[in-house]
Amino acid sequence: MTKVLYNNDIQKEVLQGKKIAIIGYGSQGHAHARNLRESGYEVTVGLRPGKSQEKAVEDGFEAQSVAEAVSGADVTMVLLPDENQPKVYEESIKPNLKPGSALAFAHGFNIHFNQVVPPENVDVFLVAPKGPGHLVRRTYEEGAGVPALYGIYQDVTGNAKEVALAYAYGIGAARAGVLETTFQEETETDLFGEQAVLCGGVSSLVKAGFETLTEAGYQPEVAYFECLHELKLIVDLMYEGGLENMRYSISDTAQWGDFVSGPRVVNEETKARMKEVLEDVQNGKFAKGWILENQAGRPQFNAINNQEYKHPITKVGKELRALMPFVKDPIQNKEKEGK
Ligand code: NAD
Ligand code: MG
Ligand code: MG
Ligand code: MG
Ligand code: MG
Ligand code: MG
Repeated sequence: MTKVLYNNDIQKEVLQGKKIAIIGYGSQGHAHARNLRESGYEVTVGLRPGKSQEKAVEDGFEAQSVAEAVSGADVTMVLLPDENQPKVYEESIKPNLKPGSALAFAHGFNIHFNQVVPPENVDVFLVAPKGPGHLVRRTYEEGAGVPALYGIYQDVTGNAKEVALAYAYGIGAARAGVLETTFQEETETDLFGEQAVLCGGVSSLVKAGFETLTEAGYQPEVAYFECLHELKLIVDLMYEGGLENMRYSISDTAQWGDFVSGPRVVNEETKARMKEVLEDVQNGKFAKGWILENQAGRPQFNAINNQEYKHPITKVGKELRALMPFVKDPIQNKEKEGK
């Protein structure tokens, strides 16, 4: 079995007194920067002026440009959107990378698909948390963590692995478990997982269930609770104790329905489609399409995004969440604050 590493397996002092530059302050960036700082490491944040930079300054970081943060850094972690990384890398990161320092990523996309070609005189590694950035932060504050994968693409100093592991410790990942991967494995499994299961698979399943109920005349509010809201409660049980814990907690009627009807909905045909999705990830077709979509100014991305926002599940969800004060809706809060 793969060896999973925890806090005690890691030489935390490897990054002591070193300068870590976090480039970007979005979902992952804010979490890495704050967690690393609270773990005792020296962190600077590199950004262009704007909302993100204001947020970083509010959180006590200095306003530095990308070039300023990278200059003299021992570790440069690139937490820009994947599609912006190649340009910012060429313009502001590459010219300022210190020889013998480390260039790091939280996802292997740009290295694996050759959109970023690093110089030969730096270490290159990834530390990829297996969870959304806001939970990387929230779990850290709770004394827990989100597990992460680490992988080494280039090791010129002979220290890349120790540095990557100390970084994983610093963001709190080694409280949950850190395991070794390659850039290829991380990139392909991450893209497949988010497309087929976590994001694409789940949102299509939720919408199809909601539509089936509402088209049959049931109330949208009931359909929302049944197919979306309750999903979290079910997934929490899986997170805590696997499918067996979820099945232990649900009624036997629900469990029997799970056994006989689940495989009617997600079946061999679904799995064949999943294999096609995986092939497109492996052969670079997905990556090529996404790179071209960005070069064209995202016409399809924006059109689909607008269309999805008009789905009836959006409207009923907003209304119901507003009535549940314990459900903190970050998007509605932003809209209220006019952001
Ligand atoms: P994000 O979109 O939330 O944040 C990006 C940040 O980069 C923002 O602060 C933005 O202001 C800044 N930025 C964008 N363009 C810039 C530019 N040209 N110059 C300077 N700053 C710029 O990004 P994210 O979702 O945190 O993703 C960052 C990386 O982490 C990606 O490689 C992604 O694949 C990876 N990742 C993300 C998650 C996640 O939870 N979102 C999970 C695992 C891995
Ligand atoms: Mg995002
Ligand atoms: Mg992922
Ligand atoms: Mg991803
Ligand atoms: Mg029920
Ligand atoms: Mg039961």
